[in-house]
Amino acid sequence: MRIACPFCGDRDLSEFTCFGEAGCPRPLPDREDAAARFLEAVYLRDNPAGVHRELWYHASGCRSWLEVTRDTRTHEIRAVRFASEAREA
Ligand SMILES: [Zn+2]
Repeated sequence: MRIACPFCGDRDLSEFTCFGEAGCPRPLPDREDAAARFLEAVYLRDNPAGVHRELWYHASGCRSWLEVTRDTRTHEIRAVRFASEAREA
């Protein structure tokens, strides 16, 4: 699989690290139920078959955080953008 980094261009998957679902809110650590919420946020996620937005880090390239829209059934990548742009949208 190859990912077209908006800064570096088309690169091999081995240069990236996937950090899971994009747009997944992280619980506040100072809440009384923070441990249960972190368990849910980290381990009890949906695992959809189909188009999915993921957060990737270009560790061996420009070190940018990217939001990748990928079909989990075919690994077809439909869109890549900087994660900072995703937050602004
Ligand atoms: Zn890059």
